[in-house]
Amino acid sequence: MSAAPVNASLGGHPTYLLDRAALPGSERLAVAREGGAYRALEKALRGMKPAEVTEVVKASGLRGRGGAGFPTGLKWTFMPPPGDPRPRYFLLNADESEPGTFKDRVLLERDPHLVIEGLALASYAIGARTCYVYMRGEFRRPKRIFEAAIAEAREAGFLGKNLLGRGFDLEVVVHRGAGAYIAGEETGAMESIEGKPARPRPKPPFPAGFGLWGCPTTINNVETVANVPAIVERGSEWYRRIGTDKSPGNFLCGVSGRVNRPGVFELPLGTRVRAILEGPAGGVRGTLKAFYPGGSSTGILPAAHADVAMDHEALRAVGAMLGTGGITVLDDTACVVRASAVLARFYEHETCGQCSQCRLGCEWMRRLLDRIEGGAGRREDLDLLLDLGANMSGGKTICAFADGAAIPLVSAVRHFREEFEAHVREGRCPFPEDPGA
Ligand code: SF4
Repeated sequence: MSAAPVNASLGGHPTYLLDRAALPGSERLAVAREGGAYRALEKALRGMKPAEVTEVVKASGLRGRGGAGFPTGLKWTFMPPPGDPRPRYFLLNADESEPGTFKDRVLLERDPHLVIEGLALASYAIGARTCYVYMRGEFRRPKRIFEAAIAEAREAGFLGKNLLGRGFDLEVVVHRGAGAYIAGEETGAMESIEGKPARPRPKPPFPAGFGLWGCPTTINNVETVANVPAIVERGSEWYRRIGTDKSPGNFLCGVSGRVNRPGVFELPLGTRVRAILEGPAGGVRGTLKAFYPGGSSTGILPAAHADVAMDHEALRAVGAMLGTGGITVLDDTACVVRASAVLARFYEHETCGQCSQCRLGCEWMRRLLDRIEGGAGRREDLDLLLDLGANMSGGKTICAFADGAAIPLVSAVRHFREEFEAHVREGRCPFPEDPGA
């Protein structure tokens, strides 16, 4: 599915991520150049030292858009100082797989030159001469478009040897995954690029010190680097005027589920969920019951939280997370137990199996939810589910997958306990068989 981008305005905020995406032929270099592509790269290569690029990104307050929300400029400073003899790599994470998330795909397909410019600036800042792009296995079309854009950029001197005659070399290698969700975890992607199964590595050591082939590596998400050209060109103060104090800038908000106009919208961080659903998303089809605010791993919130702002702090305050910024909407015909069971099946399928809490926890979670949804649940199953969630959470495992699998389950029981109890009490699912039909 490729959602149509809609560069929606909620009060005339500045935009810079999807400005070119709706233009015919937006993936072509000539169109992108007319829209300002590579101006920031030229500015950086002609007049800024790598540390100055890092500094402006740090000052902008840009936070990663892949889920964790870590400050991007700060992450870049974790690379070893110049003088470390090892090659250093930039790794672009294009393994977009979080359920309810489809915004990186829009950038890769509709404005690949924005992404290439962003990765070139990031590579310049950290001193990388090679950038690996780890792309989701199912992204055949995005890969084709992105590789054609790489060829055009190389031909025009924006990639390859001696970029713009300024002595900086950068090669980009696109590596397609084989369809495993866990390969989107940063060290899982590194293992996969090295030719091994995508099993996350224990940390420390962290990638900045010991990444690809044991060399210093910085990894950022597609949307994250797409923010960098505007920051370099217009400055950190300009950027900080968008969004909130602690979550500055715009974000790409993918909205799916029971809304009239699903799509990807560029909005300032801090925009309220209700304003998004009633504005660019065209309104909820039916009555809003619940929503996952930023991909399934950020948990489920009931409609009573629809006035929450889409930023890291506001969502954390209500026990959720911004995650990838993809909102999935459920109306009042949807069964939360069934939705949770569907997600549990996904996590059971995608666990890499290294940690017993995760491997066994995901399987038990799916079994219990299937039992409750199927009408054979017991009263004690609800507390068993919460106990299971607690055992999977809190950083007990090698990576955050186990936490991410437990959060939607625990939040569903917490906010919709009565619905779980109704399944047990009635010995059946009280909702229609196929509410989406
Ligand atoms: Fe693998 Fe799960 Fe452990 Fe992550 S938490 S390393 S996905 S078993």
